[in-house]
This record gives sequence, structure tokens and C-alpha cells, in this order.
Amino acid sequence: MLHRAFDVGALRCHLLEGGRQRLDGGAMFGVVPKPLWSRFAAPDERNRIPLAMRCLLVEHPDGLVLIDTALGNKEDAKFLDIYGVENSGLEGATQLDDALGAAGFLPRDVRWVINTHLHFDHAGGNTTMDPELEADARRHVRPTFPNATYVVQRAELEFARHTNERTRASYLPHNFEPIAGAERWQLLEGPGRILPGIEARLTPGHVPFHQSILLRSGGETAVFLGDIIPTTAHMRLPWIMGYDLEPLRTLETKRALLAEASAGGWWFVFEHDPATAAGRVTRKGDEVVLTEVIGAGPGD
Ligand SMILES: [Zn+2]
Repeated sequence: MLHRAFDVGALRCHLLEGGRQRLDGGAMFGVVPKPLWSRFAAPDERNRIPLAMRCLLVEHPDGLVLIDTALGNKEDAKFLDIYGVENSGLEGATQLDDALGAAGFLPRDVRWVINTHLHFDHAGGNTTMDPELEADARRHVRPTFPNATYVVQRAELEFARHTNERTRASYLPHNFEPIAGAERWQLLEGPGRILPGIEARLTPGHVPFHQSILLRSGGETAVFLGDIIPTTAHMRLPWIMGYDLEPLRTLETKRALLAEASAGGWWFVFEHDPATAAGRVTRKGDEVVLTEVIGAGPGD
């Protein structure tokens, strides 16, 4: 199933399955030993585990809001093989396009695009290339959503533009420079309201200027976590990705978020969990757990 909806107060939210990727299981779970993490996800012969690239579409009075954009259509066959991407939509479109269509919308209907951060599996669908153009295609990359304003932390865009040997592979300029070229970025200077009921929360650790997006309406709160808690398994405090640049900051960000979410009965929306799209957070003894789980993925 490409799309499933739920409500946060008066905000209708659509969970859009933007495709699958496979990432190294060890890198996904950091210091957690393989006998433990492989119970959560069985690795393939290349030690990779399947992960979703889930986006959230919100029907807001100000227009459609899309949070994160999956991988897009610009990467070559070698890249798709390394990352085990199952992303191909029909007729050169992406699976995100297909999911958007299944929800009843077109790219031109999207008014706001918000990125948690600019890694390729979160911001790749920000831009698109015409599949008809071959050799020259990479010169014809344009914003995927022609009527959208794109939103990210200003410091994250600067971080993405000044990479080093450790960060370079994740930040691909064709995912964010064409947005700058088209003067479509609205850059945030920290936490705060983006639109009524939609708020940026700084959740550093995975990268220094990562943001999670809070939706608040009618006494309900949902948070689109991004990569700070990418799957349900990462709700355990020490389960922190090896990819994270500042793992001890991730730990403190998660500790605070889990406390606030469980006290408030918030919804968590998971970008990468292959089986669980969302769930309501609650406390059971010492443990933070999910109730009212919304499943996801093929065959669900
Ligand atoms: Zn990331």
C-alpha cells in the first residue's frame, strides 16, 4: 500500500511510501551487536536491511505540506544497486509520485516542502530530471514541486555545502542547489512555527542541524522524527546509528523527546521503519512503547 491516512486533530495526514532502500545493518545500529539487531531486521547476503523512505503529506488550510521527499529519480544504476533501492515508479516517475497520486494529488498541488535535513534519502525528491533527456539530463534538474516553497534550517544548508570526507557521500548538491537556483528556499534560523500548527523542533545528533517536525491540532501532537529515531528499534536509548555524527547528542535529544512524547501521548511518525509507519507513544513501567500502531509497506 503506497498511502494511508490518519488525523492529527483537524489536520488530515497521509503517510506516503516513497520507496525502499537497503542500508548496512551494522551502520544502522551503531554499537548494538548483530545478534540483537538481526532480531529486528534480517540482513541480506550483503549485510543490508530493508528500510522505508516514508514521507508525510499534511492537508493544511494554507495548502498541502510535504515533509521529506525520499530519493528522487536522479541517481544512476550503480548507486541504486549499492543502496538496494526499490524506488522506480511508473513511466519514469518516482514511487513518491505514485504515492502522492494514490492520495489524490499531483506535484503541482504541493505548497510547502519541509526537509528534516538534506541527506539524499530525505531530500533527493526535492528535484527531478526529465527521464527523456539522457546524456544532458543532469543539467536539466528542476524543482519537483513547481508551486512549492522549500523549508530547511539555514545552518543545515550551509553544512550540506561544506562537506568533508566523512559527510560528503550523503550530501549531493543536485538535491538542494537547484532549489537555491530557483530562489525557492525559505531558510529557518532555529526552532519555531513554520505554519499554524506546524513547528520546527531542533533534534541534533544525526547531523548538527537536524529538525523534526511537530504537528499540533485539537489537543493532539504528532512528530515526524526524520533520522533522530528512524525506526521503532531506535526508540531504545542506546540504539543509535553508526551514521550519526554526534551520537551522544542523539542520546540526549532522544531522551528528551521520548519523555515529552510519552507524557503527552504524542504520535511518532517513522521515516525508515519498514513495518511501522506511526504509533502513539506511551509509558509502560520503565519502558516507552507504542499503542495504536499504524502499519506500512507492501502486503500490509
Ligand atoms: Zn540522514
